[in-house]
Amino acid sequence: MPRIVVDGRAIDAAGGQSVIEAARAHGIDIPHFCWHPSLSVAGSCRVCVVEVEGRGLDIACNLPATEGMQVFTDSPAVRERRREMLELTLLNHPVDCGICDKAGECTLQDYHYAHNGAASASGERKVRATKFHALSDRIVLDNERCILCSRCVRFTHEVSKSHGLGILHRGDGSLLRETGDGAFARDPYSDNVLDVCPVGALLSRSSLYRARVWYLQPTRSVCPGCARGCPVDLWHRKPEWRLNALDPAKNRAIVRVTPRDDGRPEGPWICNKGRDLAALFERPRAMQAMLHGRAVPLDVAIDAAADLIDSSKTRIALVSSWASNEELAAFKDALGERFTTFVKEDHRPLPGETIEDDFLIRADKNPNATAAAALFPVRGKPMSAAPSGQPPDLVLAWGEGFDARGLPDGARAIVLDAYGHADHARADVFIPLSIQTERAGHYTNFQGVVRAFDACFDKPASVADAQELFAALAVGARVPA
Ligand code: SF4
Ligand code: SF4
Repeated sequence: MPRIVVDGRAIDAAGGQSVIEAARAHGIDIPHFCWHPSLSVAGSCRVCVVEVEGRGLDIACNLPATEGMQVFTDSPAVRERRREMLELTLLNHPVDCGICDKAGECTLQDYHYAHNGAASASGERKVRATKFHALSDRIVLDNERCILCSRCVRFTHEVSKSHGLGILHRGDGSLLRETGDGAFARDPYSDNVLDVCPVGALLSRSSLYRARVWYLQPTRSVCPGCARGCPVDLWHRKPEWRLNALDPAKNRAIVRVTPRDDGRPEGPWICNKGRDLAALFERPRAMQAMLHGRAVPLDVAIDAAADLIDSSKTRIALVSSWASNEELAAFKDALGERFTTFVKEDHRPLPGETIEDDFLIRADKNPNATAAAALFPVRGKPMSAAPSGQPPDLVLAWGEGFDARGLPDGARAIVLDAYGHADHARADVFIPLSIQTERAGHYTNFQGVVRAFDACFDKPASVADAQELFAALAVGARVPA
């Protein structure tokens, strides 16, 4: 483990680390554009220049940390070279930060103010290039803002392997472009280039001009799109920037989704389905409790469900594979002894969706089937008969994906769901539930990794929290089984 000295501070570098990696691991940030911790070294932007005693200037991203190395990240020679490189980077940049979605999280902005700050020295007209070039139906490119760091190109070559992007031409005529075979548009991981781009050249069409980043806050969450359960941040409006005059639904909207880097071996990446969680969460909700399709207050529906449980003899429960660990445990504690319980597949692959690959995407499109199966290991066909051999006279269906046509003749149904479906009106009792963004909990992914998610918004009063509901049903079930 080589010991190096950075700006007078001794640090131990892990074997094989470059100077930029070793410094970063100890909280020392060396400015960089083209270097990214999860991509290969390009060494093109030269902004990570440092001075090494006895060696002169060199780039920290391509400099192996070796024993006794004395590194200076802020010497006069470094400051001058860094300023020159920033001046070159900005030579043809439009500096249209006022209308750029990246403003507020753009390292070009930050480094310019920190390490240069001067107006352009050039008297020449800036080179104009393509703006709003559609790279795909998900991403637009502003070539004038592109600093040709090649991070996005390397991502498609090294991570997603679609090879969907490249750089055309030379010098100040260079242009980032998609390859002509549509590989980038088909790349299920394409939106990761939005994060790796250090400037505002690559923009999401779904969140374009929707909000300034400083109006938003991230909430820790887990993508429920498949059994991988990728860690994500859900970005939504800060309470202090609440909109009062415009559509209040915007205050409860997910504006964008980004990967949350928790150091997992797969890297800080998610697939495009994870980026589209707003559409998944914001589908039409079930907000009204019902008895046989007739609207009733929530507490009336809960009492009716408790009566049905009390008066039935052979009970089957189909639990949700979108439920959290806490909700599944609450069901087991409160009602587990009264039901024969099966795990239900809430979601299946949608038409056109990537079903499975050898990177992140899993064929099981539910986030918590592993935890559910561990708690409720009963196998078999739930609707035909309970293990006792008796056909069920009560079915409790929790979550999406329940087909009411499969109900045995004469069986009553209690349905618990967060999203709207025409079949809900056919249930004897229907109780609407909260969604993931309205509660906290944990999912256990297919590898057994447990990840936490937090609530972004309050739960509407007309829907039930599943954990509280099960406790209430257990109390309300007055006749022991
Ligand atoms: S679009 Fe962004 S990530 Fe791609 S080369 Fe240009 S600046 Fe780099
Ligand atoms: S791989 Fe699965 S869990 Fe990860 S972002 Fe995609 S759908 Fe979500």
